[in-house]
Amino acid sequence: MTVQLDLKDIKGGELEQGYSCSLSEFPELGLLAAEGGPEFYEPLVFQLRFQRVGQIITADGTLDATVKLRCGRCLDTFKHPLNESFSLAFTPAPENDIAADEEEIELAGDELNLIPYKDEVIELQDPLQEQLLMAVPINPVCELTCHGLCPLCGINLNCNSCDCVRKPFNNKFNILAGVDLKTS
Ligand SMILES: [Zn+2]
Ligand SMILES: [Zn+2]
Repeated sequence: MTVQLDLKDIKGGELEQGYSCSLSEFPELGLLAAEGGPEFYEPLVFQLRFQRVGQIITADGTLDATVKLRCGRCLDTFKHPLNESFSLAFTPAPENDIAADEEEIELAGDELNLIPYKDEVIELQDPLQEQLLMAVPINPVCELTCHGLCPLCGINLNCNSCDCVRKPFNNKFNILAGVDLKTS
C-alpha cells in the first residue's frame, strides 16, 4: 500500500483515509531494530482526516502499532502498544528554486511545523515515520512494579529472589546508626 495522499481525492475539502502499512514503508524503523533499538510489528495502522483550506492541507491522525522494547530495569523485552494522536500540516513548496530562499522558507516552515509538498501527490512516509519514532517511550519499563536486576548478582528480581540484596545494605545502615547514637 502506498502511503500518500492524492490531492484529487479531497473533493469536498475533506477526506478520511486509513493506512495499514508494512515495515518496508519506513526504512528507519528497520535500521533502529538492527541497532538493538525498538522493534516494530506489522501492521502499522494510521487513520488520517485531511482537510484542505486553499493550498494548505491539514491532517488529524491517530496511529496504532505495537513495538518490542527492552525494559530499562530488568533488561527483558516486552510488547508495548502505541496509540497516539497527532496533527500535520502541509504547504506547497516554493516555486522558485533559489537555494537561499528555499532554505529560509524551510526554516520558517519548520517553526510552524509545516511540511512542504511539491506535487499533487503528498508522500506521507517521512512524517508518519517521525510520528512512530516520537511515540516510542524514552525510558521504557515493562511494569511500573518491575523490581529490576539485583545489582550484586544480576538475578532478575521479578521471577527470582536472592539473599545478597538487602543484607549488606541494611548492615551498613545499622553500623552508621550505631555510630550516630554513640557520638550524639
Ligand atoms: Zn522490567
Ligand atoms: Zn543478588
